[in-house]
Amino acid sequence: MDGSRICRYSSPVRLIFGPGALQELKGEIGPKEKPLITTDRGIARSGVLKKVTDVLDAAAIPYEVFDGVEPDPTVSVIEEASKVFRSRACTAVIGLGGGSSIDAAKAVCVGGTQEGYLLDYALGGKPLAGDIPPFYAIPTTVGTGSEVTAVAVVSDEKNKIKTGIRSPKLAAKAAILDPLLVSSLPPKVVAETAADALSHATEAYVGQGSNAISDALAIAAIRMISKDAVNLVKNSANVEAGGNMLIASCMAGMAFDNAGVGLVHAMAHPLGAYYHIPHGLACALYLPGVMEFNAAARPEKLASLAHAMGAAITGLKAEEAAERGVTAVQALFKEMGLPGSLSAMGITFRLEPKMVEDVLAFPPGKNNPRPFDAGEVTRLFEAVA
Ligand code: NAD
Repeated sequence: MDGSRICRYSSPVRLIFGPGALQELKGEIGPKEKPLITTDRGIARSGVLKKVTDVLDAAAIPYEVFDGVEPDPTVSVIEEASKVFRSRACTAVIGLGGGSSIDAAKAVCVGGTQEGYLLDYALGGKPLAGDIPPFYAIPTTVGTGSEVTAVAVVSDEKNKIKTGIRSPKLAAKAAILDPLLVSSLPPKVVAETAADALSHATEAYVGQGSNAISDALAIAAIRMISKDAVNLVKNSANVEAGGNMLIASCMAGMAFDNAGVGLVHAMAHPLGAYYHIPHGLACALYLPGVMEFNAAARPEKLASLAHAMGAAITGLKAEEAAERGVTAVQALFKEMGLPGSLSAMGITFRLEPKMVEDVLAFPPGKNNPRPFDAGEVTRLFEAVA
């Protein structure tokens, strides 16, 4: 334990997990609630939406569906969904899908009840007034941990920036982690979202806000991702791997919701806003380089990460063992089929000065264990161009 400061840890979300956990949804919804399900067309096509509506229908729970969520949901998508929430007299929200659908649900809790422009409530803005609707989260990807975080990431399409609405009121009333809902995930989405979860756990573990409890969650998540991510990429119907990856992603979310993220996320957000590549893929590009950069500040912790990922580190100095952590992450990403550069994805990258400014202005970047400047950020962007 760090004896030099007082730490806080909280996790208000009730978790229900295991194969078939979805059936518990009916018992969680209040008797007079009419939820709006926010989801996307991919989830609807995959049959996952029907699994959820079947449970609600069987319990005669009324609901509405908004399936127009897009990756990295924008203000206009949230405004559209909030209109549906109001016009159909909904009283609760179910976020069904990946981080985009779950964040959309949280943002609808804001847009559906608060006055004025949605982003007036974004980081550092107005606090949420009064109660907001109960919100339930059902993750169907294995990366964001959004089901346990108190932040909704929203894309401000006009200013090409991803921002967040953060409030303890945005905590889900319950989250359901059912591996039977991830069996339709394409291998690419498994790999990308697993990389997101690994980035959360790693940034929380080495960040300045880390503490004994977030560390325990983060290192357990790293171990589980290292063990089961590839198994789930190979076969998303592997119930054991799916269950473990949902739990790992959730624990990584609990860790970073308390301990914060860092430079990887500070860089992934502008990349997503400018190039619209999946969030987990953006994190995967920057995680190894940022770990190398951070090794000077956190060699012991990165050595523990290497050990948790099964790297042989006995007899090595902490600095050498930390290097093994970087290679273990690179090897895992390679085995999952993730590209190591933007050019390998056919993207011609041009670094806009505003992207570097956005990284420097990203508030969670202050949590990074090693301070960074524009030169370092430019180098890290260019290294995987
Ligand atoms: P996503 O929600 O954008 O979904 C990606 C794709 O996977 C979609 O096309 C979707 O249809 C498909 N999909 C999802 N589940 C499926 C299933 N079971 N079967 C078939 N297809 C399925 O991806 P994501 O990576 O989970 O979320 C990314 C978003 O989450 C980004 O906007 C990111 O900024 C945000 N995020 C939020 C937090 C938070 O704490 N609020 C944390 C990390 C990331």
